[in-house]
Amino acid sequence: MNPLEGTHHITCITADAPRNVEFYIGLMGLRLVKRSLNQDDPTIYHLFYGDEDGDPGCDLTFFEYPGAPLGRTGAGMIHLIGWRVASTDALAFWEKRLTQHGVEIARTDTALRFADFEGLAHELRVVDVPDEPLTADHAEIPAEFALQGFDGARAYTVDPEHSAGLLTETMGMTSTDGTTFESRGANRGSTWAYDVTSERGVQGAGSVHHIAWADYPNDHEAWREHVIAGGMSPTPIIDRFYFKSIYFREPSGVLFEIATIGPGFAVDEPLETLGEHLSLPPNYVHLRGELEEKLTPLPDVVALRRGTSLKF
Ligand code: ZN
Repeated sequence: MNPLEGTHHITCITADAPRNVEFYIGLMGLRLVKRSLNQDDPTIYHLFYGDEDGDPGCDLTFFEYPGAPLGRTGAGMIHLIGWRVASTDALAFWEKRLTQHGVEIARTDTALRFADFEGLAHELRVVDVPDEPLTADHAEIPAEFALQGFDGARAYTVDPEHSAGLLTETMGMTSTDGTTFESRGANRGSTWAYDVTSERGVQGAGSVHHIAWADYPNDHEAWREHVIAGGMSPTPIIDRFYFKSIYFREPSGVLFEIATIGPGFAVDEPLETLGEHLSLPPNYVHLRGELEEKLTPLPDVVALRRGTSLKF
């Protein structure tokens, strides 16, 4: 069984899919790599943003619950999503771009923090890692400044000690201080860290729903058994069509998923036009007309990538 390859995807909640598309494609320069529906509730969108190829490691996804009230972060919830950028010049580029579009930023020497329009917090970080940069093309964002995939996430916990054993002994992460961890496989890795709070959170718009860690398809059953041996109660393997998944709640309360690297987003539409049309899992295809009528129309994602129609 191979080690986990860091973060596979991070899934969040939005109340406003059209604005979410404007923010993450038009402003942040990610690509919509799948326009699909929540497989557990096919009346709502599941939007997947990523790099040009839709690779694990750069996949930020959102469920849309129209009209959902804003959430509030607390214990057992992710409160910050970290992204890699190549250089301090890239930070300067983003500082200017975000400010010009009315996004408040906080800058340090090696990082830039900001939140989306629903308060979901992000941090761009200049880090030194050997991992391949995972970038998407956008007409207004030079390739050398583009987001390069996840660096890692931070979550709140009552006590990091609750989770340390699972993370290191079962999930194979390393840690030097008991609050910051690294998951690293042969090709890729990411960090995972806790901040302490006793505040209770409320899930809602702008909240993270879960984080998925990447494994190889041939190891998936073995990882499930391994997680059970580590004291967790994972779901059965669920076929999410673009990957296979198991889910369990880690001891601090964050919903973890382990998802396979592949088959990937090009399994049901051409790579060239990923995300431009609604993709339905096979068991929902017969409902296409009915579902398309109910869904909120989205902005033109191709125009957003050309930088021609951003409303922010
Ligand atoms: Zn997931």
